[in-house]
Parts: sequence; C-alpha cells; structure tokens
Amino acid sequence: CGIVGYVGEQQAQSVVIEGLRRLEYRGYDSAGIALVDGDALAVDKRAGKLANLEKAIVDAPLPPSTTGIGHTRWATHGAPNDANAHPHLGHAGRVGLVHNGIIENFADLRARLEADGHDLLSETDTEVAAHLLELQVATGVDLTTAMQRVCQQLEGAFTLVAVDALDPSRVVAARRNSPLVVGLGEGENFLGSDVAAFIEHTREALELGQDQVVTITRSGVSVTGFDGTPAEGKRYHVDWDLSA
Ligand code: GLU
Repeated sequence: CGIVGYVGEQQAQSVVIEGLRRLEYRGYDSAGIALVDGDALAVDKRAGKLANLEKAIVDAPLPPSTTGIGHTRWATHGAPNDANAHPHLGHAGRVGLVHNGIIENFADLRARLEADGHDLLSETDTEVAAHLLELQVATGVDLTTAMQRVCQQLEGAFTLVAVDALDPSRVVAARRNSPLVVGLGEGENFLGSDVAAFIEHTREALELGQDQVVTITRSGVSVTGFDGTPAEGKRYHVDWDLSA
C-alpha cells in the first residue's frame, strides 16, 4: 500500500519510518523495513500499526545503514500477520522486496519455484518475485538487470522496490499499473508510492512511466523499460503546502 526507498547519507531507518508515517493516511494492516547491513539484510516486519514496528526496533535495534526500503501493507493475498508482512526475501536472504498491487500469475510462478526446491515462507503473491530476483542476481547480473528480467515474467499490477545485500549502492524499483515516484535529492535519492513518502526531504520529483525500471544511487537516477531500453521519467516540482 505505502512504499518508501532510500539511498544517501542519512540513516535510512529514520527516513523510511518517517516516510511510512506520512503514508499512513492510505490505510494498512502491517509494516516492515529492510536495511542493507554489510553483506546482509536487517529486516523487521510486524502486523498492526507502524507503532508496533517502531516499538520492535526500539527493543531490538537495527544496525546503522544508509540504504533501505519500507512498506505498509494492505493485504490482498494472505492474512495480515508478521510472516505475510513485507519486505519478502529471496531464498538465501540476499534480496529484499516490497510490493504494492497484485501479481496475477503468482500461483504458476510459485508452483515452478516449489518444484525447484524453494521454500516459500508466506502466502503472498509478492514472495515469488523476491525469489525470482534473487535467482537473477545469483547468476551475477546486477539488481537493475534482475528487475528488468523478472518484470517481464510478471502479470498484473505492481510497484516493486528492492535491495540487494551485496550492493548497498543502489535501490531498484519498477512499476506497471501502480504508482511510483522518485524524489531527487543532493547526495541522496528517494522512492515512494507517492510524494508524501519524501516530501520532508525534497520537492523535486520524477514520475515514472508505465512498465519502467528505475535505479537510484546517492548520485544518480537511471530509468529503462522492462527490456532495458533507456527511458526518461517526467520531472516536476511538488508544490504542496505541508502546513495545510
Ligand atoms: N498483494 C500484496 C500482498 O497481499 C501487496 C498488497 C499491498 O498492495 O499492500 O501482500
């Protein structure tokens, strides 16, 4: 339902949690966060309000990190519980993924993954995409190429935002029939399901087109189609009055 991604110089945890709070107005049933920590992901995800997640990470603090993603879920596939909350991980926990929308062909993809020996830990349509992304990066391609390839296998409506534990320099996202905006900063960049996710940090935004993949790093943003062809988002200035 609500999505935040961040890479920059600030602590990703606070940028992500603040962004999720700004997206609370959309409604949700669970919340979660993944941070890139060395060569692993630090993940916490909880059913219930964002306050539950915040309490959990006070009790068991996450490591410092400047690359992260977060999600507030509005369940469509699987009950609102901790296991079904996002982020979802690939088979070895290398790729973390959050998702808005519905992957229509997830049952076929899931059956194929299970036939290949994958254990899926949730009832969501999302987790299959996390496994597919991790299979791709395990072949040696970067997360951007992995996202392009996986999106070509997916049907339905989705905003996907992913991190790779072995590449803290980037956060990669994609969209089809579901919104995704980039927030353009100085030495940092943001992803959001809407501009509320990053409005406290920047008002310069980039709207993604249909069937596009975007990669953010500290210093840049690059956009392609699902087939890898270079593309461009539409730049605009957000002139909301925050005090309103
Ligand atoms: N279909 C996904 C799920 O049920 C994502 C739901 C959402 O958009 O929050 O977990």
